[in-house]
Amino acid sequence: MTFLFSPDVQPPALEPAAVRREYAAQIEAALTRQLYRGSGPPTLLMLLSGLSCVGLLWGHAHDLLLGALLGWLTLLALLRLWQTVAFQRASAAEQAAPNWRHTFLLGAAASGMTLAAVGVLLMPLAGPRLQALIYGLLAAAIISASVSYAASLRTFLAFAIPGLLPSSLFLLRHGDPELQGWGVLGLILLPALSVSAWQINRGWQRNLLRRFQNQALLEYQEQARRASVQTNLELAGEVRQRQRVEAELRTAQRALEERVSERTRALTASELARRQEEAERRYLADHDALTGLANRSLLLQRLEEVATRPPQHDREVALLHLDLDRFKRLNDSLGLAAADGILRETARRIEGCLHQAELIARIAVDEFAILLEVHADGDGLEPLARHLLALLRQGMAVGEQELVISASLGIALLSGAGGDPARLLNQATIAMRHAKQLGGNSVQFYRDSLQGGSRERLLLEAQLDKALARGQLEVFYQPRLTLGAERLRSAEALVRWRHPDYGLLAPGSFIALAEETGQINAIGDFVLRRACAQARAWQREGLAELSVSVNISMQQLRQADFVAGVAAVLAETELPAPLLELELTETQLSDNVEDVAAQFRRLRALGVRLAIDDFGTGYSSLGYLKHLPVDVVKIDKTFIRELDGSEQGGDAAITRAIIAMGHSLGLEVVAEGVEQPAQLDFLRRHGCDEIQGYLISRPVEAGAFAALLRAQGREVGVPA
Ligand code: C2E
Ligand code: MG
Ligand code: MG
Repeated sequence: MTFLFSPDVQPPALEPAAVRREYAAQIEAALTRQLYRGSGPPTLLMLLSGLSCVGLLWGHAHDLLLGALLGWLTLLALLRLWQTVAFQRASAAEQAAPNWRHTFLLGAAASGMTLAAVGVLLMPLAGPRLQALIYGLLAAAIISASVSYAASLRTFLAFAIPGLLPSSLFLLRHGDPELQGWGVLGLILLPALSVSAWQINRGWQRNLLRRFQNQALLEYQEQARRASVQTNLELAGEVRQRQRVEAELRTAQRALEERVSERTRALTASELARRQEEAERRYLADHDALTGLANRSLLLQRLEEVATRPPQHDREVALLHLDLDRFKRLNDSLGLAAADGILRETARRIEGCLHQAELIARIAVDEFAILLEVHADGDGLEPLARHLLALLRQGMAVGEQELVISASLGIALLSGAGGDPARLLNQATIAMRHAKQLGGNSVQFYRDSLQGGSRERLLLEAQLDKALARGQLEVFYQPRLTLGAERLRSAEALVRWRHPDYGLLAPGSFIALAEETGQINAIGDFVLRRACAQARAWQREGLAELSVSVNISMQQLRQADFVAGVAAVLAETELPAPLLELELTETQLSDNVEDVAAQFRRLRALGVRLAIDDFGTGYSSLGYLKHLPVDVVKIDKTFIRELDGSEQGGDAAITRAIIAMGHSLGLEVVAEGVEQPAQLDFLRRHGCDEIQGYLISRPVEAGAFAALLRAQGREVGVPA
């Protein structure tokens, strides 16, 4: 294991003085131990020397003295040996006590004095040869003790000074030169021994110093090691603590990251939801919720964008404005859900037909706008528009019934509008209105001449409101010739507006408007009343038993009190019900055959005759006829117009078929718009019951019609 030294552990001071200071007690103890350890042999040697001296002097000195010396010597030696044994048995701590030193010092001093006593008291008693021997023995004892007591200079001195000095001085003062010589020798020996003891002592001191320096170093190392261990333990603890904290931090961080990512996920989810909502909001702001098409706002935006595009020489931008014919009535009669269904289906059909369109928008309840890029010469636009109208006129299933709807389409070109998007939309709208005025189900391109027409229309609308009250509406009559009988038996009442500025206006210029504005009810009522009254008047005048045919609109028929109103008019005018015929155009009929049938039944119950006008222009012409209580079908003039007397051609075939079918259903068949004798011949050939057309007469005022009737009374027959 690697220890790191703690900076808290200071290295020891190793200078001798410092070590001596630091380890004074231990040094003392070590020296004491050294004293005791080395005291055995000198003590024994001293005892031996003493005993030898006693033995040598035996007989030369007083026996008592020798005996006492012997006893003392033995006692002292035993005491010192006992002291040594006691010391060695003591524990290290006990050995450090200072009294061990003191007793050793005492023992040494006693030994020294004992040797001095031997030298002073016994020496003179012996002969010179014996003296030399005794001094030799004493010197040997002193030298050996001095060397072993050198561990403590005080002990050495306490032993050596009493051991040598008194006896040497005593001998010097003795008259005998030989003894004086020994005295001199003793005096020389004392410093010589002192020097040796001092050097030995220094050696000991150095050793001890080195030992304690080493010990200091070892202790320092140990301390440092412990400190390192402690430090390492603390470090390890710190490392563990740090690891724990790091682990906690990591856990916390993971938890935080988890929370962050959860939050991020939540945020992302809510952000997604917000964006989706935003996109939906934006989508709804730009789109029509019912059909999913763009709305007017998006159309206007796109028109602006398109208008800012650099013009391309071979491309042109066209705007188609489409309005469903009679939608208001459909809405009123079928209810909102069905009307919504019609709008959705219309949108789908437009999309299906004009998938190349840049934008298809629903810009009002039943109005759609289509933005198209076309070839610069506009080629193909009209066929495309007609195809769209034809598609829209295909039967549409609404609930359990099948309806045929038609639309009016106005087209304007961006170049024609001078690149102005607002003007483009306006022009397309004007063209669409014109198409509507022409009876609907048609396409009109914008041209500048329509501009006035559109203003006129607004004006006309306001004026039509007052036309009835101002007596500007009149009823014209167009005769119907009964073939076979060759008589004018009936007349169709056709409304006219004698306009103060524009003169006599045909229904084509205001009936559609009246239907849109709802004025048709009042107008229809006026025509019915006027026609019935007129027919009754002619009858009264004896001109003819004339039946009168009045055009009614779906709006009128849908009125709950319509039948009652008719009954009231008949009662009022006293016209027999069978002389009144009501005409409903086939295209209007297709809106709601069931309701029409119910109303027709009620009308028929009054005795009124019923006719389907413009027969052949609707779609399911044949299908409903057998369910409808009608008396007459009027072949539309478009079929008659093409007849040239030959049997060839589609119109001839259709006309033949209608006559045959009408008859097979027990209906009277009337042909409208007969202008040519050849047409008359054809119809006559195929058994058509009645004809109506300019060939017989244009619609004329009541007076003129009366004249016709009178003329008929004079010369019955068909004009040539
Ligand atoms: P309609 O009921 O089919 O009437 C016949 C239309 O054909 C009349 O047009 C008549 O003038 C025209 N006509 C008759 N013979 C010929 C012919 O030989 N050649 C040509 N080219 N046209 C011929 P008009 O009077 O302009 O009326 C147009 C339509 O207006 C009528 O068509 C009818 O649907 C509607 N209408 C007229 N008066 C009323 C009315 O009082 N109430 C309603 N709801 N509609 C009316
Ligand atoms: Mg008619
Ligand atoms: Mg007609």
